[in-house]
Amino acid sequence: MAKSKFEYVKDFEQEDKCLPNCWIVVRVDGKGFHKFTDLHNFEKPNDLRGLTLMSRAAADVFQVFKDIVVGFGHSDEFSFVFKKNTNVYNRRAEKLSSLVASQFSSSYVFHWTDYFPEMKLLYPPAFDSRIVLYPTDENLRDYLSWRQADVHVNNLYNLCFWSLVLKSGLTPSEAELKLRGTLSGEKNELLFQEFGINYNNEPQMFRKGTTLLRKCMNFPDSPKRVVVVRYYCDVIKKPFWDDHPEILKAGKTPEVDFVDGMDYFE
Ligand code: ATP
Ligand code: ATP
Ligand code: MG
Ligand code: MG
Ligand code: MG
Ligand code: MG
Ligand code: MG
Repeated sequence: MAKSKFEYVKDFEQEDKCLPNCWIVVRVDGKGFHKFTDLHNFEKPNDLRGLTLMSRAAADVFQVFKDIVVGFGHSDEFSFVFKKNTNVYNRRAEKLSSLVASQFSSSYVFHWTDYFPEMKLLYPPAFDSRIVLYPTDENLRDYLSWRQADVHVNNLYNLCFWSLVLKSGLTPSEAELKLRGTLSGEKNELLFQEFGINYNNEPQMFRKGTTLLRKCMNFPDSPKRVVVVRYYCDVIKKPFWDDHPEILKAGKTPEVDFVDGMDYFE
């Protein structure tokens, strides 16, 4: 087919290929979820349905992109790590970033009623996304540690804040003022003294976030299946990396025995 005289406009498109041999991380984050969760009556500070819906949408992203080796999420955000040598979409940053965000958003809406059967969606939610490249394994581990440290800081603060608002009847600004400048030890003390809450007994999912990994599982009565498994564990310390060596090797999906009660998505 002959080229049209308009064809030259294609030359204005920018090359956006991710640097070779780097981990590619795409992170999505809900747009205005402070308001979204408020309008949709999420339980504060942690709505279990909301967090599980986030993991469900993330599992769909794992299904679409087989080169994702680990995912980590909390609150309204989720990070996806593509193996270093992936060649999916020729490593084009815009393709990866936009498709992950778009798949995630549409899956979030698609599965909404499974998690919030009583709550009609009042408007279509959206997620932004960004892409970051990490050249070393240490950088990647530090990235995941950074996100998990953020879970801790936010969760401790939010638990104090919402206890003061919901149980002590403080206004949001009074609660904020009371917490301003407090150290984490003081927040732990406040939770224990005023509300009898031992922070360490809070659910792991709320304190540690959700980690998704791909595993090939041996089920009792059926052939092996590759599933996306949810973990609520520490990703900062070494044992996680010893237990899941496939992440950094980006090798083949490891086989695990089916454990009854294990949390997974297909
Ligand atoms: P932005 O568009 O800049 O991201 P935002 O309002 O989404 O603005 P975030 O910093 O992303 O701000 O914070 C997300 C907010 O969503 C949290 O502060 C929390 O209030 C709420 N949220 C997210 N997930 C849940 C959940 N599962 N349960 C309760 N609240 C949640
Ligand atoms: P890619 O993921 O690479 O974009 P694609 O299958 O979406 O692959 P496109 O070049 O974007 O390929 O073409 C979109 C195709 O979708 C069209 O070729 C057409 O077959 C179909 N399509 C889109 N909109 C309509 C429509 N309204 N009615 C009928 N067919 C449609
Ligand atoms: Mg944001
Ligand atoms: Mg947000
Ligand atoms: Mg957020
Ligand atoms: Mg296309
Ligand atoms: Mg198309």
